[in-house]
Amino acid sequence: GDYHQKIDYVFKVVLIGDSAVGKTQLLARFARNEFSLDSKATIGVEFQTKTLIIDNKTIKAQIWDTAGQERYRAVTSAYYRGAVGAMLVYDMTKRQSFDHMVRWLEELRGHADQNIVIMLIGNKCDLGSLRAVPMEDAEEVAQRENLFFMETSALESTNVETCFLTILTEIYRIH
Ligand code: GDP
Ligand code: MG
Repeated sequence: GDYHQKIDYVFKVVLIGDSAVGKTQLLARFARNEFSLDSKATIGVEFQTKTLIIDNKTIKAQIWDTAGQERYRAVTSAYYRGAVGAMLVYDMTKRQSFDHMVRWLEELRGHADQNIVIMLIGNKCDLGSLRAVPMEDAEEVAQRENLFFMETSALESTNVETCFLTILTEIYRIH
């Protein structure tokens, strides 16, 4: 059973982006298939793991969630250390959280490994009528900065599995 499962790779992936964009709920949905509407601000550095099979290899994804340190430059370098992937999350109903992506990218590129795989995520796509960020704006940033891009809903489970699988498959491909 699980006890003797052989792990081929452990990949650290960090979640970053403004407070309240849905990072914690994306992780809860992916790791435990849970969602909460009144999630409290994350306290303490936390990560969750999920083991999955890609190309017949057993991969343990270690996904880190910010400790409510989303203020600019407050995330410490320890958080980024060893990360091979990053999910840059904004709230597609909050323009400001998207405009801050340039800062988060700058911070990420300053701390992280050269060939870190980055995915831009527009979360809360279930709130389509409140959209404040056109998809084309995000696609343009993604193309210019060489990022993967997807819109997700942690609430409705839209693209959550897919975005994690996509980034982990790319990480596996280049390692
Ligand atoms: P974090 O600060 O980035 O970790 O954000 P949280 O995961 O704590 O989420 C902040 C708020 O947005 C909470 O009230 C969540 O329930 C809500 N939320 C998160 N993801 C979604 C989503 O996909 N759709 C909707 N409608 N609300 C979401
Ligand atoms: Mg959080």
